[in-house]
Order: sequence, then C-alpha cells, then structure tokens
Amino acid sequence: MLELRQVSYRYPQAASPVLEDLDFTVADSRLGIIGPNGCGKTTLLHLLVGLLRPDRGELLCHGQPVRSRADLRALRREVGFLFQNSDDQLFSPTVLEDVAFGPLNLGHSPAEAAEIAVHTLENLGLHGFEERITHRLSGGEKKLVALATILAMRPKLLLLDEPTNNLDPQTRQRLIDILKNLDLSQVIISHDWNFLDHTTTALYALEEGRIHRCDAAQIHVHRHLHRAGDHPHHHHP
Ligand code: ADP
Repeated sequence: MLELRQVSYRYPQAASPVLEDLDFTVADSRLGIIGPNGCGKTTLLHLLVGLLRPDRGELLCHGQPVRSRADLRALRREVGFLFQNSDDQLFSPTVLEDVAFGPLNLGHSPAEAAEIAVHTLENLGLHGFEERITHRLSGGEKKLVALATILAMRPKLLLLDEPTNNLDPQTRQRLIDILKNLDLSQVIISHDWNFLDHTTTALYALEEGRIHRCDAAQIHVHRHLHRAGDHPHHHHP
C-alpha cells in the first residue's frame, strides 16, 4: 500500500543523510521496525506519511507517486499516525472534542462525529472519558485517547512511533490487547522487543540508512536470550 523507492533524506542542518537510497514497502500486515537510537526510524515514518519529503526518490501510495497536495490528502485519509509524543496529537479542551475532530473534518455532522467518538472511546475501554480535560490525563490515558483520535477516522493502515515509551505496564498491556484485536495493517517502531513480539508478525531492522528483514531464526534466538521479556535494548542482527 505504501512504498518508499530509492529514498534519500538529509535534515537541512545535518552533515550527512539519515537515509540513503532506501527501498521499503509496507505490505498488508503487521510490521515491526527496530534499530538503534538515532538511526532514522522516526524519519522513516515521517517520510511514509509525507510529513517529510524525500530529497531523492519517491513515496508511492497504491503504486501511484504522492506528489500533489491532493495525493497527500488521499494518503492521509487512509493512513493514521500515532506520534511518539501524545501532546503533538491532542489539542482540544475535552476528550470528546479531540476524538470527534477527525470525523468532523471528514464531513460528518456534529451529531455523527460525536457518536463515532463515543463509540471509538467505548471500543478502547475509555467509556466515561468524554468530558475529561485532555491536558490533565495521565501519559497512558493520553496515548489511548490519541489512538482513539486516529481510529475515529477509520484508517486502513496505522503507523505507531515508539508507542510504549513512558507507558505504565498496565497501559502497555492494554495497548497490546487493543492492537492485536484491530483488524488493520500496522507498522510499529519500537525498541520494546517483547511488545513487537506480541503485536507484529514481521520484523525489519534499520541500520546505517538501510533496512532489511530479520528472519525468524534471529527472533527465535532472541526469545531464548531474553525470556524475561521486556527490558528495553537494541538488537543487531
Ligand atoms: P530514531 O527514530 O531512529 O531514533 P530519528 O529518525 O529521530 O531516529 O533521527 C535520525 C537522525 O536525524 C538522528 O541523528 C537525529 O539526531 C537527526 N534528526 C532528527 N530530527 C532532526 C531535525 N529536525 N533536524 C536535524 N536532525 C534531526
């Protein structure tokens, strides 16, 4: 559905590119992406949703180049992006307004948008959160509400940037349960191996500007080495 073809990207102030001649296709499945800090995982996701434009190469959606603003709007209609920092995603006074914002923007009436929002919150176990003040929520609650704002727009693909950062263990487990039950393609960047193990079926490693698939044997070895599970660390295939 989404594809980066021979993409290079360098931040304006940076001496060298973060990603070079990168090919990456998001097929219909649940992908995890791992890689050391600063290797360009967030940059990769931002390129995939058009938040950054490649210096060279191209972003394609359903095989068509994403060039115009209309192309980008069409892409954003299908792809939801959960930011690493929920405060980048939540801006309305109340939870209901935040979650209804997307459906309203898509042309639903206020009553329909509110109904979609209530329903989405309920599905995420957030019934009763409607009138809560967004900026007073805990970090974990914010993460789930941010996810609700995206799911209310019914995307076909969900991209998640380090979703377990700063999450308490209960919310982390809730997020695992929610993501597993979502009938929707997902790309998840995380250093939390155990989380990816639960939520994804294919694993890619990003290293020195290149991305490659990790095979099942490496995942298997990893499981044996880290049976206890979820302490954050990096893995170099
Ligand atoms: P990751 O998500 O893998 O930790 P990032 O994609 O956030 O990596 O960053 C990749 C590299 O680009 C890092 O060296 C980072 O410091 C640099 N970088 C990220 N954002 C910017 C920016 N806005 N301007 C300049 N350099 C940046």
